[in-house]
Amino acid sequence: MYNIEIIKNFKSRNIEVTFFKTLEDVKDKILDLIPINSTVGIGNSKTLKEMDISRLLCERGNTVFDKTLAKSKKESKHIKKKSLLTDWYITGTNAISKDGHIVNIDHSGNRVAAMIYGPDNVIVVVGKNKICNTLQDAIDRVRNIAAPLNAKRAGYKPPCLELNKCVDCKTDQRVCFNLVIIEGQYEKDRMKLFIVDEEIGF
Ligand code: SF4
Repeated sequence: MYNIEIIKNFKSRNIEVTFFKTLEDVKDKILDLIPINSTVGIGNSKTLKEMDISRLLCERGNTVFDKTLAKSKKESKHIKKKSLLTDWYITGTNAISKDGHIVNIDHSGNRVAAMIYGPDNVIVVVGKNKICNTLQDAIDRVRNIAAPLNAKRAGYKPPCLELNKCVDCKTDQRVCFNLVIIEGQYEKDRMKLFIVDEEIGF
């Protein structure tokens, strides 16, 4: 799975790429990389839930802002805001292209906001199932695969759930108000992309 072209293409956009065999290896790397006295924001992601990273960071002493641990909508909103100015931000993404784009589809936009600006360091974890040949393939993936499955996970029922494709709906069940393409980073090595040789998330 190791691909020198992918590394080269992301590097040319100031994004560092590392390949990992398993999600377990990624977890160890993250725990090693992030100092215990750092604050950490977490983007809502099936991949991160599988790693149980929030609990592990909390237990060893990091201050963690993870909205999925909130007990109310008010607290969730507060956590989302706090996570925008953390030392580190860890998130999944919905697709990457081989030529170096990170493509995201997001509901309220807190996750993509933190990826773009705020936290000093950003780690993006992605499984091999989300590697797309072109930017257009990545956009098609986030609209027609990631959005419907995320809607299902969150208990929404937009039309794409039945149709298996996006129809740019305007219903109150819409889950994707932000389609964000990260083309690169102004600050070199602020963003690290961890690609895992496993099928994870959607
Ligand atoms: S715009 Fe509507 S139909 Fe399209 S992916 Fe989003 S929720 Fe689904």
